[in-house]
Amino acid sequence: MIHSAKTAWDVLVVGGGHAGSEAAAAAARMGARTALVTHKRDTVGVMSCNPAIGGLGKGHLVREIDALDGIMGLAADAAGIQFRLLNRSKGPAVRGPRAQADRALYRQAIQDLLQAQPNLDILEGSVEDLLYQEGHGISGLRLADGRVLTAGAVVITTGTFLNGVIHIGEERRAAGRVGDAPAIALAESFRRLGFALGRLKTGTPPRLDGRSIDWSCLKAQPGDEPPEPFSSLTRAITTPQIPCHITHTTAETRALVQANLHRAPLYSGQIDSVGPRYCPSFEDKVVRFAERERHQIFLEPEGLADDTVYPNGISTSLPRDVQDAMVASIPGLAQARILQHGYAIEYDYVDPRELTRGLETRRLPGLFLAGQINGTTGYEEAAAQGLIAGVNAARRAGGTEEPFVIDRSEAYIGVLIDDLVTRGVSEPYRMFTSRAEFRLRLRADNAEERLTDSGIALGLVGKQRRTHWQEKKRQLQEGHALLSRLEATPQELERSGIAVNKDGQRRSAFALLRYPHLSWERLARHWPELLAIEAPIRAKLEIDAAYHGYLERQEADVAAYRRDEDLALPTDLPLVEIAGLSNEIRQLLERARPETLGQAARLPGMTPAALTLLLRYVKRRRRDRQAAA
Ligand code: FAD
Repeated sequence: MIHSAKTAWDVLVVGGGHAGSEAAAAAARMGARTALVTHKRDTVGVMSCNPAIGGLGKGHLVREIDALDGIMGLAADAAGIQFRLLNRSKGPAVRGPRAQADRALYRQAIQDLLQAQPNLDILEGSVEDLLYQEGHGISGLRLADGRVLTAGAVVITTGTFLNGVIHIGEERRAAGRVGDAPAIALAESFRRLGFALGRLKTGTPPRLDGRSIDWSCLKAQPGDEPPEPFSSLTRAITTPQIPCHITHTTAETRALVQANLHRAPLYSGQIDSVGPRYCPSFEDKVVRFAERERHQIFLEPEGLADDTVYPNGISTSLPRDVQDAMVASIPGLAQARILQHGYAIEYDYVDPRELTRGLETRRLPGLFLAGQINGTTGYEEAAAQGLIAGVNAARRAGGTEEPFVIDRSEAYIGVLIDDLVTRGVSEPYRMFTSRAEFRLRLRADNAEERLTDSGIALGLVGKQRRTHWQEKKRQLQEGHALLSRLEATPQELERSGIAVNKDGQRRSAFALLRYPHLSWERLARHWPELLAIEAPIRAKLEIDAAYHGYLERQEADVAAYRRDEDLALPTDLPLVEIAGLSNEIRQLLERARPETLGQAARLPGMTPAALTLLLRYVKRRRRDRQAAA
């Protein structure tokens, strides 16, 4: 509904990008009357940069969003035109599902999913101001056209739009991304309220016309066959699949960049904010890896009915004439036409240490922030935060103060949010598997086991997924029980051609699955009943068996982590009463206001001595209160 006459909702979500779409869908699934307010209805679900979902670490986030009944995985399955499981040759814990997406199909899928979501209105408008009542927190929003919308909670997900400025060589103009106006008044509103703001930058490569590329000299990279969906609700991928192609930059490309560095906004002093270290611009790569002559480029199709090609690996903000020459110096691209030049964008972000673990601002209760506005980069990071902010905004609007928090041992979503709110960011934050300490538990294949039951208990998971998960859980439990029940001695196994150490010990089928040379099919020679288990359940049980011993060992670390996480620090921690804390530590705690002892321990600059003092203080206070009661 556009321009609804309604002016009051439970939850208002600002921004129709990846964080906003997921936040609005989650709040509405929780039963909150929700409105998504965004510049243009047409751009809901737009992919501002690369036409792909997932990847290492990011694919885990998509599966976790899916396990909580989010929409990103479903949209990626509808729009995916090349699926690949990255790191296939490595262990299941670090494998990352990824899909090249048809931009138009992805946007359409998100819009269709939001359209079908009960309790959700979509409004067009530009939000300029946050309205609040002193002592009561946020009360609503004011739009540029003068409309005032009210709600019990608000989620802001404005991405790169706050004071956005685009750079292409010496050109510079205010914009939220190419073709969209920036949000200047809203940035001012945050500043007026005293929020700590910083400035970051990111960039995007030129887009090419695929009809002008000489494909004959390039290596094709096909996707997986069959493609593996993101969502457990997707039975099979039905969108046609097409390959990507690979090329590389040359010594000539490098020389062109080196000769024109003084015209690059990043090096001329025109941009001084920090960009993503792990997703650098091409000029950054040439400076940092000056000895490397070639850099690989993936030529990624932007859609089935779209000739646009995204050259992944040459994000740049060099002047247009340099970009033209750079592209022409690349094999296969000598005649390539540039449809849109690459650019860099600088924008304001809010220091995420302003937020609680539920993504609510401490400064203005009822106001939640999610996505790139919190200093992250990437669609998946944005969507994951959006989901949590949407859930907690719905809870807050419904009168529940206690937020839904996922911890670091449960999900990458927990790692992401804990990193942001505890440590803040010094560059755009993106997810990697190396950020998680409990990687063996946090696999892309077991996201439902880790999260769906919590989602059901919260009221976040719809009927279809609930039924699907409960049936899958039953099959997993039965499969597990069967594998543990089936036992044989080495002699019995030998009769079926299965060789194990002849130590006379009976081994279960579950234990035997840990042997690298024993596949499910081999074991089924001895126990034909194993063939009755369906392939996806089998694959899951095989991974469980392989990781069983490691996971048991990790349990002790998880238990120690949980002990510290369970020790809540009072929100009104009277730091002056804690004798022995240095001034630096007092300031650190004052600024970060950790919610648990574990979070305090992860603060950069925290000392073991200060932690001991904190622990003693909290225990004594608890004892005194119990005694008084
Ligand atoms: P967005 O997807 O940006 O959505 C913001 C939404 O808010 C839009 O719908 C907008 O219309 C709306 N909005 C903003 N202000 C207002 C307002 N005042 N009123 C109403 N609506 C408003 N990610 C990577 O992982 N790798 C990259 O290399 C990369 N490069 C990028 C390059 C560029 C040029 C850009 C723009 C982004 C890039 N990204 C990259 C980031 C990726 O696009 C974002 O991380 C992701 O889209 C963030 O999602 P979001 O939901 O936070 O914001």
